[in-house]
Amino acid sequence: MPELPEVETVRRTLAPAVGGRISSVWTSGMGLHMARKPPRGKLRKLVGAQITAVRRHGKYLLLDTDHDAAILVHLGMTGRLRIHGQADPRATHTHVVLGLGPRELRFVDARRFGQVDVVARGQERAHPGLAVLGPDALDEAIDVAALLATAKDKRTTLKAFVLDQGVIAGVGNIYASEALWRARLRPTLRTHKLTAPAAQRLAAAIREVLERALDNGGTTLSDFVDADGTAGENADYLWVYDRAGHPCPRCQATIKRTVLQGRATYYCPTCQTA
Ligand SMILES: [Zn+2]
Repeated sequence: MPELPEVETVRRTLAPAVGGRISSVWTSGMGLHMARKPPRGKLRKLVGAQITAVRRHGKYLLLDTDHDAAILVHLGMTGRLRIHGQADPRATHTHVVLGLGPRELRFVDARRFGQVDVVARGQERAHPGLAVLGPDALDEAIDVAALLATAKDKRTTLKAFVLDQGVIAGVGNIYASEALWRARLRPTLRTHKLTAPAAQRLAAAIREVLERALDNGGTTLSDFVDADGTAGENADYLWVYDRAGHPCPRCQATIKRTVLQGRATYYCPTCQTA
């Protein structure tokens, strides 16, 4: 599932679409996340609009236009947003195609957990997906005092806390395990026991793992590719995620896998303290 570094990688590789004018719109008519269909009528009203910027908040992409609307895209589990030549054959599971003169921006999503929507400019944060998001994990410095105060209130596990998009937007399952390992914190630790130095380490670790993944073009475990179709290389650099039975890169103890709230969680039983 694409997380923040993968979505940011897609955002950066969409740069050639900026300045393009939407010349046509096609949708498959099939429902995506929660059976919601991309709004064909609203999208068609954007024919003639120029794409002025591609922004990101958490795992949402926003394609700004010079009309009063932006196109919101969430990749879900298997969504891909790629630039193609008009003559390139369309992949199966193509659900939205925006013509950009000789090129096309295509949204392909095999499992259909993604989203494509149109939001009014300036009203993006009112969209139900964006309204619940906390500060972006990469764009804004994490406020450690606020993080610690929220942790005291939540009384959940650190793993669930880091995954909570209302606390910090953009950290998913892979980078939650990675950041907790980097910060030497046990995923099962209760948040109200988080100390100020540990919160400081956690904030720094979250930023570090996301920036590292971004430098490597994102993590491709099964099918993530950027807007040019290139797979990320960060899977080769993961410290603990998907590494059960391997030695911990820090202390050589054997990495363990457990399941927390239905999600695979990886940690070192020796150097990540409880
Ligand atoms: Zn270790």
